[in-house]
Amino acid sequence: MKNKLAIYGGDPVRSTPFPIYNTLGEEERAAVNAVFDKGVLSKFLGTWSPDFYGGECVQRLERAWESYFDIPYAISVNSATSGLYAAVGAAGVGPGDEVIVSPYTMTASAAAAIVYGAIPIFADIDPDTFCITAKSIRERLTPYTKAIIVVDIFGRPAEFDEIMNLANEHNLIVIEDCAQAPGAKYKNRYAGTLAHMGVFSLNYHKTIHCGEGGVVVTHSKDFAERLQLIRNHGEVVVKNKGVTNLVNMVGFNYRMTEIEAAIAFEQLKKLSTLVYSRQDNANYLQDCLVNIPEIEVPALPDYIEHGYYIFPIKLNLEKLGGARDTFVSALRAEGIPVGAGYVEPIYLQPMYQEKIAFGDKGFPFKGSHYLGSVDYSKGVCPIAESMHFSDLITGDWVHSAMTKNDLDDIVFAIKKVIVGLSS
Ligand SMILES: *Cc1c(COP(=O)(O)O)cnc(C)c1O
Repeated sequence: MKNKLAIYGGDPVRSTPFPIYNTLGEEERAAVNAVFDKGVLSKFLGTWSPDFYGGECVQRLERAWESYFDIPYAISVNSATSGLYAAVGAAGVGPGDEVIVSPYTMTASAAAAIVYGAIPIFADIDPDTFCITAKSIRERLTPYTKAIIVVDIFGRPAEFDEIMNLANEHNLIVIEDCAQAPGAKYKNRYAGTLAHMGVFSLNYHKTIHCGEGGVVVTHSKDFAERLQLIRNHGEVVVKNKGVTNLVNMVGFNYRMTEIEAAIAFEQLKKLSTLVYSRQDNANYLQDCLVNIPEIEVPALPDYIEHGYYIFPIKLNLEKLGGARDTFVSALRAEGIPVGAGYVEPIYLQPMYQEKIAFGDKGFPFKGSHYLGSVDYSKGVCPIAESMHFSDLITGDWVHSAMTKNDLDDIVFAIKKVIVGLSS
């Protein structure tokens, strides 16, 4: 009876919930109290004054971020979404420009282009890295291409050497969405520092968090200044600051509060330990699952240190002799939470299908400002579609609260389901 699948009425492998990931402790509590006692919850002013750069905690976080990631400029913001918007603005992207982006990512990676009147052009992902590649980007280049947003999806840095070579060849600005990859590395360099600008998330669901928040990093003083202006009401600041380039200097309020910054500062100190335990758990799972022909855990080249925000597994549907939906339902019945795919490829959202974003006339997809033409039909990124709709499963299985016993339950359930469905 022990082998009878739970979907067929057997006992589930796991009847208790898995541990919850909580990275907050006394350090964060003390940091919050210290801000509270001072009473200054945000010190930003949207004018050209010392307070244009925010309060003590905000600036301390930014200096710590710069030193940790070994990059000259870090600009905190109130979310990675804001960070992506600011980065696209800083890149000088405008109406009629095309921005090449992954379809297999959180929605804001592409919406960032729309916000500046540009058109997201989706390049397909690689079936092993799940990221866009120099090759898939090259296929989407047109005279209107202005920038590329590369996403380190699931915490795996994309293949940046080839991407940056291509970008430099064509004078394109590259933004790295590393929301899922803090602490991951590519050839000994941190994810986030591999492009012209990198955008981190400090949202509650990410590896480290402060509730809501984000950080943009860059090697360029010019981008840094433009990011700061977009973060904080740039249009009213440019005159007194003596800024002459007015492109995209409409500012927003993307400012982080002192409480969030104080929490994020403590969280950053924990990052390497948290990432290390994710890698350790992922390696353990990988070792347990590597010889099962019905599934494939993509192998990593030795120059990648994965951040393992999510643990992806590809199903070999032929060997499995069944559809993914059955496999996923069977695993869930065994008490193992698992995702079928990840998120729907972005171009399938109604906004892209209907080509309606701002107003009712089709801006930015249609109109005299846009000389290209964009295709969002089903099938434009076949690998992303097949991963999402049939081949991939994803688990939030390797965070630091998970024990080896928890991982053993996952492995046992996967094996049990494979055997149970094939017999
Ligand atoms: C979470 C996430 C974002 C958005 O982060 P927020 O801080 O919630 O705005 C952007 N891109 C990716 C890939 C993400 O996973």
